[in-house]
Amino acid sequence: MTGVRESVARAVNSSNLGENGDEWETNLDRIGALAFAPRLGAAFLRWRDGQDASFRERVLVELVRESLRLARVKRWKCSAGQVYAIAGRVLFEVEHDQCETCGGHGMIGIRRDVAPDPATKPGICPDCRGSKKRQFDAADRARALKISVDEWRTHVEPRFQRVRATLFGSVKQMTLVLKDQLERAP
Ligand SMILES: [Zn+2]
Repeated sequence: MTGVRESVARAVNSSNLGENGDEWETNLDRIGALAFAPRLGAAFLRWRDGQDASFRERVLVELVRESLRLARVKRWKCSAGQVYAIAGRVLFEVEHDQCETCGGHGMIGIRRDVAPDPATKPGICPDCRGSKKRQFDAADRARALKISVDEWRTHVEPRFQRVRATLFGSVKQMTLVLKDQLERAP
């Protein structure tokens, strides 16, 4: 999370619009900046950075809407039902992105019950290799979407990657808009 996203997320959850802490910006400035961001990215900020679970549904709806819009423009072959299922899986992975083996620390040995793998550097988590991120494979994703791994690899994975890129593209755009609106260097 970048500093600007953190301060805007705090502002949207604050009841004091005039509060500005040590900075010249007020919470009202920060909330106003979010209004210029794309709807999908703005909903994502409220859901994840702002930790407001009620925005998950909004993110899903906006992600489906934006993916279908891009599908039409770019002539991807993808039904609305499939986009909806894929978008749900993309959000699930966002919610469960922490490596389970190391508990999101990137290192093992912090927990005594997890033995280090001799093939990796001592201390670095063998599952995420220090990235702290949970790694999902084709089998996990095919199972979640109730399709075969073959079906996943040949037909669904490219669409999944597009929907995922749609989400993170909008999040990136939202971050740039906030930086621009609040006049911080990128
Ligand atoms: Zn790990």
